[in-house]
Amino acid sequence: MDKNNLKDHKQIGQELELFFTDEIAPGAPFWLPKGMVIFKELEKYIRQLTEKAGYLETSTPIMVKSEIFKESGHWEKFGEHNMYNLELSDEADDSKSISYTLKPMNCPESTIIYRFRPRSYRELPLRLSEIGRLHRREKSGEVNGLLRVRQLTMDDAHIYATEDQIFDEVSKILDMMIMFYKSFGFEYEFRLATRPETRAGSDENWDKAELALEKVLKEKGIKAGDKKGDGAFYGPKIDVHIKDSQERDWQLATVQLDFHQPEAFKLEYVDEKGSKRRPVMIHRAIFGSFERFIAILTEHFQGAFPTWLAPLQVQIIPIADRHQKYAQIVLEQLKNSKLRVEIDNRQETMQAKIRDAQTQKIPYMIIVGDREEKENKIAVRTRSSRDLGAMPIEEFLEKIKLEVEHKRNTE
Ligand SMILES: [Zn+2]
Repeated sequence: MDKNNLKDHKQIGQELELFFTDEIAPGAPFWLPKGMVIFKELEKYIRQLTEKAGYLETSTPIMVKSEIFKESGHWEKFGEHNMYNLELSDEADDSKSISYTLKPMNCPESTIIYRFRPRSYRELPLRLSEIGRLHRREKSGEVNGLLRVRQLTMDDAHIYATEDQIFDEVSKILDMMIMFYKSFGFEYEFRLATRPETRAGSDENWDKAELALEKVLKEKGIKAGDKKGDGAFYGPKIDVHIKDSQERDWQLATVQLDFHQPEAFKLEYVDEKGSKRRPVMIHRAIFGSFERFIAILTEHFQGAFPTWLAPLQVQIIPIADRHQKYAQIVLEQLKNSKLRVEIDNRQETMQAKIRDAQTQKIPYMIIVGDREEKENKIAVRTRSSRDLGAMPIEEFLEKIKLEVEHKRNTE
């Protein structure tokens, strides 16, 4: 990577036609078709991980009555100025109005799903995930491309568990985070964030929660950094920080232990003996937000996404018009293997087409001419100008399919 020629995600997003922002919706991105490929691949990946780990996917309303955030304590903590609130007149009584909020987080509404019916200890741990669309009223001076947005999509989950289950659940979440960040080649580090000055809940619960997280880190042999006083207002958390290719530090994943909201929302389950008990709530996010994570990935890879994420994975370049038919046959074969592939049909020289595919950071170029057609092969090049030579299509398919499956990069 050329360190002197680094671009930010906004510039790369424009050049590769991934996303952009427009004055008409400050702080909220417009996703272009190629950007959506990346978004959807990440969504697919996180769904695979959570389904395998026993999570159940849910979805909760974006616009809810503000009272839920008063009940949860978010209103007091974030203040109404950090949320989008609407006063709407009460249809039953014109003289009254009802206050609604565009949800800035999913947690309070997740508790409503929990409370939907009585819960038994047999259902715990109950792992409810939600890819939720959130709105936060960031100041216009702080809004920055995809890094700081007013509308974001969170890969959220809330786990309702007994106190005995905390260790296993947090431990599994940390394993999922490690696996996830390793697959992008990020260096990562855990940090324990403890009670902040303004907080909800009793000191006794804070002691219990902090000890529980410390125990998980200790028994897993994880050396965690310290973020004293930086916990959520309802509980301590373990944050994951990563280092990108430019040595910058980003906080992404988080797992938070919460005794407060189960109390605020009077959550219960019936234990083995038939008595009512209070579950604990574990909040966790792996990306943080899709928007911010994609911004970081875009800058980390400088647009040269790993093959599994690349909007277009293969560009077929016929040397002359007479090779169109063979190019079409190659295209069909690659498409049958579910690869994202196109033929460059423009009236340009082969060199110009190769250059453009490289500028677009397409992982592979397949060049087809007389020789390739006659030998029933393809000539393969990578975006970093590596010439892999001529090979049968099957050989290339095997290589690229493995690369996609293991989320490896071309280089
Ligand atoms: Zn939450």
